[in-house]
Amino acid sequence: MYPSRFRYEAPHSLNEAISLLHDGGDDAKVLAGGQSLVPLMKLRFASPELVVDINNVPGLGYHRSDPDGTLRIGALCRHADLERSDLLRGTQPTMAAAAPVIADPIVRNRGTLVGSLCHADPQGDWASVVLSLGGSVVAQGPGGRRTIPMAEFVTGPFENVLDPDEIAIEALIPPAQGVRGGGYLKLERRVGDFATVGVAVSVELSDGTVTRAGIALTGVGGSTIAAPEAAAALTGRSLTAETISRAADLAAGAARPRTDHRGSAEYKRHMVQTFVERILSRIDHGSADDTAERAA
Ligand SMILES: Cc1cc2nc3c(=O)[nH]c(=O)nc-3n(C[C@H](O)[C@H](O)[C@H](O)COP(=O)(O)OP(=O)(O)OC[C@H]3O[C@@H](n4cnc5c(N)ncnc54)[C@H](O)[C@@H]3O)c2cc1C
Repeated sequence: MYPSRFRYEAPHSLNEAISLLHDGGDDAKVLAGGQSLVPLMKLRFASPELVVDINNVPGLGYHRSDPDGTLRIGALCRHADLERSDLLRGTQPTMAAAAPVIADPIVRNRGTLVGSLCHADPQGDWASVVLSLGGSVVAQGPGGRRTIPMAEFVTGPFENVLDPDEIAIEALIPPAQGVRGGGYLKLERRVGDFATVGVAVSVELSDGTVTRAGIALTGVGGSTIAAPEAAAALTGRSLTAETISRAADLAAGAARPRTDHRGSAEYKRHMVQTFVERILSRIDHGSADDTAERAA
């Protein structure tokens, strides 16, 4: 199907893009990678009157680390940039594990992490990853910039807190307090599918003690699910069989899966427990960065 008629603008500056969005109001949409927006428009689930393509806005394709270790991912940084990133491989095990299991190479070449956060699909992988890392989104609008914690960014399926004339310009991941470990595991029916179950685990360790933990779940509820009780079961403790098992049970309890053609609710809940245990056990055994895999 063809999309409804729309006006297309491709401004060359952020201010121009914001001004176009401001004038367009609720009928305007940002286009980044287009990997979610364009299919929705073709299916006529979305029919914006104005599409503001930000791909000509310079200086948004970066991902880089500040001197204090804060990671910044610009609005035009593609999934493929993150998949190939040495910076992520060296410092961000959960992100490095997630990047190669998002969609397929074609989608990864165009789609963006920030676009995925904005799209707020309950089956989007990056939202869980960024949530587990305590990340945030920086938005810019006519009134200036504001930083929104990821935990407050998504308000429901396909909904976020951005005003119609705000653009998410970057995502931020705070620096680790100690050594960072973690992973992302995803159960999918075929390579390239959205997650039947996805689990993001991020921990920071100092002298063998977990100083910070984050666990978030993909595809097992109406939106991305944080599992703070599971994370709290790890904080201040070392990673032992007992603490790992307790965190895995609590994470499984936080899941809200539904039975469908991809599996029963019970099976999906069991997979959450298994994935949490698997990721944490690998950190315990000193191989935190080898958790990039797809589960069949
Ligand atoms: C076949 C296929 C398989 C896929 N599989 C997966 C998968 O396994 N896992 C997964 O996580 N995703 C998957 N995706 C989605 C993909 O990751 C998208 O790239 C991502 O969801 C959206 O990023 P985008 O840059 O393409 O955003 P767009 O499609 O350009 O935009 C998506 C939405 O976000 C808004 N938006 C985008 N950027 C901004 C911004 N900077 N500021 C404000 N609003 C913005 C747009 O207005 C729109 O509403 C798949 C997509 C396809 C087509």
